[in-house]
Amino acid sequence: MSVLVYIESEQGKLKKSALEVASYGKAIANQLGINVTAITFNMSDASELGTYGVDKIMNVNNIKEFNAKIYANYIQQVAESENSNLVILSSSANSKYLAPLLAINLNAGYVSNVVALPNDLTPFTVKCTAFTNKAFSFTEINASKKILSLSNNSFGLVQSTGNATFENFTPETVTSNVKIESVDKASDQVSIADADVVVSGGRGLKGPENWGMIEELAAVLGAATACSKPVSDLGWRPHSEHVGQTGKPVASNLYIAIGISGAIQHLAGINSSKVKVVINSDPEAPFFKAADYGIVGDAFDVVPTLIQKLKTFKAQNA
Ligand SMILES: Cc1cc2nc3c(=O)[nH]c(=O)nc-3n(C[C@H](O)[C@H](O)[C@H](O)COP(=O)(O)OP(=O)(O)OC[C@H]3O[C@@H](n4cnc5c(N)ncnc54)[C@H](O)[C@@H]3O)c2cc1C
Repeated sequence: MSVLVYIESEQGKLKKSALEVASYGKAIANQLGINVTAITFNMSDASELGTYGVDKIMNVNNIKEFNAKIYANYIQQVAESENSNLVILSSSANSKYLAPLLAINLNAGYVSNVVALPNDLTPFTVKCTAFTNKAFSFTEINASKKILSLSNNSFGLVQSTGNATFENFTPETVTSNVKIESVDKASDQVSIADADVVVSGGRGLKGPENWGMIEELAAVLGAATACSKPVSDLGWRPHSEHVGQTGKPVASNLYIAIGISGAIQHLAGINSSKVKVVINSDPEAPFFKAADYGIVGDAFDVVPTLIQKLKTFKAQNA
């Protein structure tokens, strides 16, 4: 018997959220006194998982592109072969897509947006965010099989000592009625989902020609760039950068919002970020109420100054 963690990767590299899922899986496995098995797709080396508490890696190679129905079926097969009654996934778009399908396959209880270890194992009760991170709920799962999806950046990375065994698992192949014709991948240097720092711009930046300073600030901080919905709707930035209720969720350690008013739909997507810095010329902008640090000022003065100061600081501390 083991806890099964679904490990996401991109071009052979493990995602940070996947290492967090492994860390969380290990902590629950310790509570239950059992091992952790990871399912990976198309990995040749996933040994890093051993240092996050995984005991055994089962790698599936016979599907190249993500397909929720097929992935859910293969995860089910591994869960059954490992006798896993508890499966843990991240809160990525792909995981949110496949988790309900997996719940049907396994006849399991599924809880999303989990932010902490179970309060109780019997009955199994977990803390989750509700109402776009404005409240918490404590959800009890009574089904014997359970699936949890962990909110990004809620548990953190916890290293432990250990080595994971690696084996290729050949599932019974299944077909899907969803045909993937092409895949367009965002070419962000740092992906928003995995970024520790996100620099985000809004309509206050007036036009796409002014994004140079956003990119420069992001480059100095090693950050991902993001934007508000109108900015991507206007075509100033790609839709892959749109964050908020209808865009990507952000759970970074630092979120810098520049020229963004702080509408409720924007805040819904960035509430889980740990520290929020707001730069806005209007002292009454609603975003200041949600900010940890606020700078009232013109972005065209503040941002270049900030870049200069950060560059000087980096040079002095190199
Ligand atoms: C169903 C629905 C879903 C939505 N989903 C999303 C979503 O997912 N994400 C999202 O972002 N929005 C979403 N919206 C839109 C949302 O309601 C707001 O309209 C949007 O977030 C506003 O974007 P903004 O802050 O960039 O622009 P604005 O509201 O125009 O704000 C611009 C801000 O820039 C400031 N500013 C102006 N000039 C400067 C300057 N020189 N220096 C510094 N600051 C300056 C202004 O004071 C202002 O606060 C949604 C709306 C609906 C109805």
